[in-house]
Order: sequence, then structure tokens, then C-alpha cells
Amino acid sequence: MDEPLPRPEIARGTHGPRPVSIKAIAAMAGVRRWTVWDCRDPDLISERLQTVLSPILRDIEAGRIRFVRKAIGSGDRGLRGSTFEVEYRSPQAGRMPPPQPRMVRAADYNEWARCQSCGSPHFSAFGSYFGCDGCLGEGDRRMLDIGHGS
Ligand SMILES: [Zn+2]
Repeated sequence: MDEPLPRPEIARGTHGPRPVSIKAIAAMAGVRRWTVWDCRDPDLISERLQTVLSPILRDIEAGRIRFVRKAIGSGDRGLRGSTFEVEYRSPQAGRMPPPQPRMVRAADYNEWARCQSCGSPHFSAFGSYFGCDGCLGEGDRRMLDIGHGS
């Protein structure tokens, strides 16, 4: 069993910069959602919480658990919001594909490839593209959505 992550890392893992679903993390850890919210303040993280959250946050960091942002209600009235879907991945033994650009067409996207620019395994879909969560902010995505709107 690995050592639990230090409290500041738990705070960072549950409260960005990476987009995660607090609700899903709470469900996986078997704790209340507010308990995970409170991790924002490292002083509020109990030892028990540290222990249950550490393996989950490690899996997220390694890309074994991913939160994929899905748009809700896209169409001619535009995006009305987004939600997270949780995906679980088992590690593929020894065979990593070459890195891909931080923005790729959906047809070229490889869910196992890391970002060429920052090495992150976390990408999410927007429009007909996939973008690296680490490199492309909300603003970039919105701009690109407009540029490629159908
Ligand atoms: Zn990146």
C-alpha cells in the first residue's frame, strides 16, 4: 500500500487546475460530497480521508480514471452547459502510443496518447476536436467552437 498523498496534494487533486467531478470522487471514496468540497482547505482533511482519496487521485493523475466533459444540449441554440462522464481505464501493459498534439481532430484522437506539449493523458471533446485539458483553457475551447461551428 502506498503512502497517502500529502494534504496540499489532496487539495490540489480535488480542486483543480484539472477539471474533476467532486460528485464522482465522493462516490468512489464512499464519502459525502461536502466532505470532498472541504478538501479545498488542507487543514480540514482528516487522516481517513487522506487514505481513501489518495489512491483515487493517483488513478486520476495516471489517467486510469478520467472525467470527460460532455456538452449538454448542443445544437442550434448553442451549448447550454456541460457535465462530466467518468471513464475507467485499465492500464495497457507496456505499450504507449506516441504523443499527440494538444488539439487533434476527433477522427485522429487516440485516447491512450499523451499530450505532445505537456505530457498530460487528459483530453476532452469539444466540437469535432479533442483538446488537452492541461493546455487548452475554457476560453480557447469556446473560441474554437465558434470557429468550427456547423
Ligand atoms: Zn497539454
